[in-house]
Parts: sequence; C-alpha cells; structure tokens
Amino acid sequence: GPVLDAELFRRWLVAAAEAVSREAKALTDLDAAIGDADHGANLDRGYAAVRARLTDGSAPAPATPGEVLVTAGRQLVATVGGASGPLLGTALRRAGRALGDAERVDGARLGEALRAATTGVREMGGAAPGDKTMVDALQPAADAYDEEFARSSSLLAAVRAAATAARRGAEATGPLRARKGRASYLGERSAGHLDPGAVSVALLVEALAAVCER
Ligand code: ADP
Ligand code: MG
Ligand code: MG
Repeated sequence: GPVLDAELFRRWLVAAAEAVSREAKALTDLDAAIGDADHGANLDRGYAAVRARLTDGSAPAPATPGEVLVTAGRQLVATVGGASGPLLGTALRRAGRALGDAERVDGARLGEALRAATTGVREMGGAAPGDKTMVDALQPAADAYDEEFARSSSLLAAVRAAATAARRGAEATGPLRARKGRASYLGERSAGHLDPGAVSVALLVEALAAVCER
C-alpha cells in the first residue's frame, strides 16, 4: 500500500491545487447560481498559496504529515477569505492535529483525521448533513472511510470509498435547499444547483485517493 509520509501529503495538496485551478471556473459558476460567484477564485488563490508554501523552498518544509496539514490549513485561512477559507482551513488544521507528530500515517489514523476535519467544520459552521454545504461531502466521506476500513482494513480501499462518497454527496446537494451560508438567503431558489463547497471538497478527497493510488 501507499506510504503516507510528509511527502505524500505535500503531493496531495499540490494535486488538490491543480484540480481546483482546473475547475476554478466551474466552481465559480456554481457559486454564481446560488452565491456571489467567487468560490473558484477564492479557492484557487488559497490552494496556490498552499502549494507555494509547501514547494518553494524559501520556508522550512513541514517535516511530518500533521505539520503539512496544519501549515496548509493556516495558509487557507490567511488567503481564501469568504466562508470557505476558515472552514476548510479548520478542516485541514484539525486533521493535522489528529495526525499528531507521527512520521507516517496508518489507515486508522487517516480515518480519525477525516472525522476530526468533519467535526471541526460542523462545529465552526453549525451545518448538518442535508443543509447543502461542504458538510454534505465531508460527512459521507468520513463515514464511508470508516465503514470500508472496518470491513477491509485497506487504507487504499477506504480512501477510494471516501472519494466516491464525497462526490456522490456533492452531486446529491442539487435538489436540496440551503440552510447555511450565503445560498440560504435564496431559500427555495437555492434548489436545483450543486453546492460549490461540496464540489470542491469532493475534488480534495478525490485528489487524496489519486495520490494514494500512484
Ligand atoms: P462566500 O459564501 O463567503 O462567498 P465561498 O463562496 O468561498 O464563500 O464558499 C461558499 C461555500 O462555503 C458554500 O458552497 C458552502 O459549501 C460553504 N459554507 C458556507 N457556509 C457554511 C457553513 N455554515 N457550514 C459549512 N459550509 C459552509
Ligand atoms: Mg462565494
Ligand atoms: Mg464571497
């Protein structure tokens, strides 16, 4: 199976930055329908800063997986702005803290990190599953990870299951009416569009599965 060391976590965030950059216009279009048309631009700026911080060599490279995620989370909070910056930044920082100072992460720990990220977002934003937010991708990802890992003890199978569940969760936000964030101002009119934050979380979890497969 994959070795989950600091290098793999750096590769994950670089892959996420690439996916968000590629999908920035699509994410902004989703946000144009039910928000203020900035989600793709917000995240592209944030993930580009994360990528720069983790790869440009001017600052000391974080030495452990936990440190990589905490550093990335801080960078997102500092650069994204909007609702999604503090929420995603909290997700990554909480995940990083859950990893502790281990040099390598095992399957059980990765599940704990995913759960910590989800709990952090739920506590900070007050959204529950079904409220048409990024929680609709995060929660099913954490649940599917645990379920598959308990069944197979395979990190790779679990992370794939998480990615599939995140994507399904994001796709399932379409008919929902938003109850948190800017989209909630639209009430019933928020139904019929995917939630941009749930879609960007799906990109993030899919990027993790992709680097674990390599
Ligand atoms: P803003 O709404 O400030 O312009 P973004 O457009 O970058 O911020 O992000 C919007 C996304 O943030 C939404 O699609 C949703 O997924 C997420 N979001 C907003 N409020 C909450 C919340 N309270 N809890 C969880 N996620 C939220
Ligand atoms: Mg927005
Ligand atoms: Mg905004």
